[in-house]
Amino acid sequence: MIISKRKTHEKLMESLNKYNSFFLIGCSECASLCGTGDEAAMKAMKEELEQEGKTVTGMMVPKTGCQTLGTKIELKKDKEACEAADAIIAMSCGAGTQSAVEIFPDTPVYPSNDTMFLGNMTRFQMFDERCSLCGECVIDKTGGICPITNCPKGLLNGPCGGMKDGNCEVSAEIKCAWVRIYERQKKVNELDKMAEIIPPKDWSKKQNPHFIGRPEKDKKEKKA
Ligand code: SF4
Ligand code: SF4
Repeated sequence: MIISKRKTHEKLMESLNKYNSFFLIGCSECASLCGTGDEAAMKAMKEELEQEGKTVTGMMVPKTGCQTLGTKIELKKDKEACEAADAIIAMSCGAGTQSAVEIFPDTPVYPSNDTMFLGNMTRFQMFDERCSLCGECVIDKTGGICPITNCPKGLLNGPCGGMKDGNCEVSAEIKCAWVRIYERQKKVNELDKMAEIIPPKDWSKKQNPHFIGRPEKDKKEKKA
């Protein structure tokens, strides 16, 4: 899931102060699990804005904020409330925010959240980063544990010389990713994989922006 974190009130108001009325769009997927785009978060945002003398013309939690077409269809019932707003506040990740930008080409759209990383919810409202979206997954060779994300240096072939007592030299609070990988491979009888050299990554696979299934003509329109 995409982990997002609410911007501080002060930071948010730096962008929003010049507007008087807002429509709020949340997201019932990741942002809801993060508590940054669910109904409770939206109600809290409404109160915050009202305390600043602002008006909230309406709010809606779409099923999946980054599903642009679906969100556009869901928003049809709120057409008047959206049109009555000076600006839209997208309470989702950066992708959901950009859905709103495409849906409302003539209205300012502002994100209420900072989009942090791709990770897992390990306990309620506790999130750990798990994947850096490198575009060429290697965890079939590393016991299903990502060295690019879990090792601060992104080392692909074993630990650096700074590992101490199994902990990472960058932060003693985390276990060395390569110790975790070793322990995992040992447990599942795949220690032989540790001898396999992982070649240097082709970082061009990570080059933005990515498209899958997008017609060539649309890519050119986007560039223009
Ligand atoms: S190797 Fe790449 S795709 Fe696989 S989990 Fe790590 S960062 Fe993500
Ligand atoms: S100690 Fe381990 S996790 Fe930390 S930087 Fe070195 S190899 Fe990476």
